[in-house]
Amino acid sequence: MARCEVCFRHCDIKEGSLGFCGARACRDDKVAAVNYGRITGIALDPIEKKPLARFYPGSMILSVGSYGCNLRCPFCQNYDISWSDETMAAARRINEDASDREIRYISPEELAFLAARYKPEGNIGVAFTYNEPLIGYEYVRDTARLVKAGGMKNVLVSNGTAELSILLEILPFIDAMNIDLKGFTDDYYCKVLGGSRKMTMDFIERAVKDCHVELTTLIIPGENDSEEEMREMTDWIAGLKDDNGRTIGAEIPLHISRFFPRFKMLDRDATDIRKVYRLAEVAREKLKYVYTGNC
Ligand code: SF4
Repeated sequence: MARCEVCFRHCDIKEGSLGFCGARACRDDKVAAVNYGRITGIALDPIEKKPLARFYPGSMILSVGSYGCNLRCPFCQNYDISWSDETMAAARRINEDASDREIRYISPEELAFLAARYKPEGNIGVAFTYNEPLIGYEYVRDTARLVKAGGMKNVLVSNGTAELSILLEILPFIDAMNIDLKGFTDDYYCKVLGGSRKMTMDFIERAVKDCHVELTTLIIPGENDSEEEMREMTDWIAGLKDDNGRTIGAEIPLHISRFFPRFKMLDRDATDIRKVYRLAEVAREKLKYVYTGNC
């Protein structure tokens, strides 16, 4: 038995079993990332797709993802690799050392090599994305170090739900992040997503001091779509400070996205486009760079 200290769940994991996220297991009384280097998706994507609007616009980035997630968003766009029954079954097979043909092992060295090979296509580096990368932060750290040593960039697309000690371990190698700030009430974070708003806010507060950060909020009808909540959230973002205590929050880009019924959340329509545009207007009262997505 060992305790995982990566996220707020602090799973106590029995020998040979998986933690809640399906990506970490207890082996020989130690917690290890069993999804290390196990890639479920790899693609050369435009950087705007991460989404990052103000970090090397027009460039491409080699994007990779593994499997597993520590949250349980019922509207997950990538449920097939994050937390569906099939994902968890595949995670159990991998933990038992069975081979899985759909998951390819790519070592940090191989991924850094691939990133450099795609330079002529406009590639600037590697993005860790698709599933939650921080539940397998060791792979992010080991790969990002090599990518950076090769003069290329690293991007992290994360739910920001990890301990600061994990953030500090990878931060020296990460150049830009898109972090989900999924809403601004504890109730929504806790009951709908199975997450921790406080941990996410602490993570963002620290990340902006050393890294280019953009934020994303998916607007779910009836959950996080009030103007009051958007005002409260953008007030908080606008007040964020850099390492010298200078207020820089108004410069942080915010992506406001439209929801479509998906996965387990099929009980409501897509977000009204007018609502997304109105909330973007509200956000612009405090922030300089607000983008709408999926509209
Ligand atoms: S990262 Fe995974 S195993 Fe570790 S505490 Fe979080 S959910 Fe549990």
